[in-house]
Amino acid sequence: MSETSLPLHSIAAYRRGYEEEHRLLGFRSACGFVTATWSLACPRCGARDLTEAELASTGRLVAFSVQTVPSDEFLNDAPYAYVLVDLDGGGRVTGWIPGIGAESELSVGGRVRFSPSYKPGVQFARISDGGSTP
Ligand SMILES: [Zn+2]
Repeated sequence: MSETSLPLHSIAAYRRGYEEEHRLLGFRSACGFVTATWSLACPRCGARDLTEAELASTGRLVAFSVQTVPSDEFLNDAPYAYVLVDLDGGGRVTGWIPGIGAESELSVGGRVRFSPSYKPGVQFARISDGGSTP
């Protein structure tokens, strides 16, 4: 293992992954840590052994806030929720859920699914309770 070797993964590849290939990309370390954040070394053990991994498309809400005053890119989408999601199997990503007008519409721990869109950012959708779909 060379000290100068870099992960093949890049921020551009990550963006292309979710915008064009409709998959969320991240890294896995031999220690078991999984991250969605581009990095040269494992944030947990420091090893420079990160390998590219496809992350799950489902997860749980860790935090969220309802945005009523949007940035320019989301001018026609407010209100919406800005969300922090822990993906199943590892990796934490930020994204957004359209059509959320009140905090009471979401809950921490609620299930969400990556919902690919032509819009900027990683778009999620709520998974309704009452069982999983095949
Ligand atoms: Zn590690």
